[in-house]
Amino acid sequence: APVVGVLALQGDVREHLAVLRALGADARPVRRPEEISAIDGLVIPGGESSVIDKLARAFGVQQSLRDRIADGMPVYGTCAGLIMLADEIRDAIAGQQSLGGLDVVVRRNAFGTQLDSFETDIAMPELGDEPVHAVFIRAPVVESVGEGVEVIGRLDDGRIVAVEQGPLMGTSFHPEVTGEHRFHARFLQKVADSVASHAR
Ligand code: GLN
Repeated sequence: APVVGVLALQGDVREHLAVLRALGADARPVRRPEEISAIDGLVIPGGESSVIDKLARAFGVQQSLRDRIADGMPVYGTCAGLIMLADEIRDAIAGQQSLGGLDVVVRRNAFGTQLDSFETDIAMPELGDEPVHAVFIRAPVVESVGEGVEVIGRLDDGRIVAVEQGPLMGTSFHPEVTGEHRFHARFLQKVADSVASHAR
């Protein structure tokens, strides 16, 4: 069975492991280069992107992660994880780097103080008829997307909060905390497809 890693440097690692395992995946926390070379897909959790970035460099995994992303490994990032996947970050802290791969511009902490955290239902036909109950916690928004990026979720005001680009997925919100399993299921399908295409 494919092995799925959850980047375990900082953030809500356990919640992602629980969803992935509930879906039957062989999921494990990863934080070292040799662990990253042994996985078939990766989830980057929510948390604080500037901390995840610093620790990724301190643990010497930034390059391994960039290499695996460039190689086409499926990766799903939620919130801070989406920021890590973005090619460009606005309102980054000084010196903050992303891994990149997803051709989007994201803005950190894009919602004002009153909306620091909020919940809303969002229609996402790609995931089925049932709307997604989305929890936003000091969340980023996607301010622009490149040609190859598919927008799968928008707020009522049009702001982009869920995207997909080939094997990469990102959401501004946290399906891992609400019992929403469809994003992880979609991600696991990408992992299965990617493993099958390598075996051919
Ligand atoms: N504000 C955080 C950041 O910039 C993201 C918050 C989250 O992941 N819930 O990384």
